[in-house]
Amino acid sequence: MNKGLLIVVSGASGTGKGTVCDALLKKIPTLAYSISATTRAPRPGEKEGENYYFLSREAFSEMIAQGGFLEYAEVFGNYYGTPLGKIEERRKVGQDVLLEIDVQGALKVMERIPDGVFIFLLPPSLAELERRIRGRGTETEETIAKRLGKAKTEIAVGKKYRYAVVNDQVEQAVNKIEAILTAEHCRADQNSDIFEELGR
Ligand code: ADP
Ligand code: 5GP
Repeated sequence: MNKGLLIVVSGASGTGKGTVCDALLKKIPTLAYSISATTRAPRPGEKEGENYYFLSREAFSEMIAQGGFLEYAEVFGNYYGTPLGKIEERRKVGQDVLLEIDVQGALKVMERIPDGVFIFLLPPSLAELERRIRGRGTETEETIAKRLGKAKTEIAVGKKYRYAVVNDQVEQAVNKIEAILTAEHCRADQNSDIFEELGR
């Protein structure tokens, strides 16, 4: 059995990572979503163990001390981390695992798991990014300015990723990611079981 892919979708805040990943998971139900841990408070409608594992700062620090995270980062004053937990277990049985994380976290995963599939999501323009951040209606003027400033630096880091997908229309972005995953599954080193079988 070939190992499942580790897929990392990342990009500046407001680009549409959450929206695109939700649509991708609906389209490819076999994809396993890695649920992150966070110290931020749940938003209305968010559920423990579904959107995030909501932890106190103490519990989060404890998990860091135990080496329980693949990566973690502070994002806009709260901590977010990817639990190591089931990722390797799932990949070993051939399941693809999807991580939706911020840019700092993705760079750490790049160091630890260089054969991951790193996809950088881009907004069609900075003006549209600002519209999306404002449209979410959850931020103050101060945090909007902070997020836009940070977005410009983060977008420059996107050149380090293997793939860049512009999120103009959600459906098209999802189709492009699906095409990337199809291509990744066709890599020769992802098909060693068939090579072995045919070489007998
Ligand atoms: P992120 O997870 O990257 O911070 P979200 O998924 O929360 O971004 O999206 C930010 C806002 O932009 C949301 O209001 C979302 O509905 C909207 N949005 C996402 N993708 C698109 C798109 N392709 N076209 C228009 N609006 C979008
Ligand atoms: P939000 O609070 O809007 O759910 O997420 C804020 C940011 O944290 C987003 O950019 C999201 O991608 C990022 N994020 C979510 N989970 C993780 C994680 O496990 N690790 C890292 N590094 N970032 C994360």
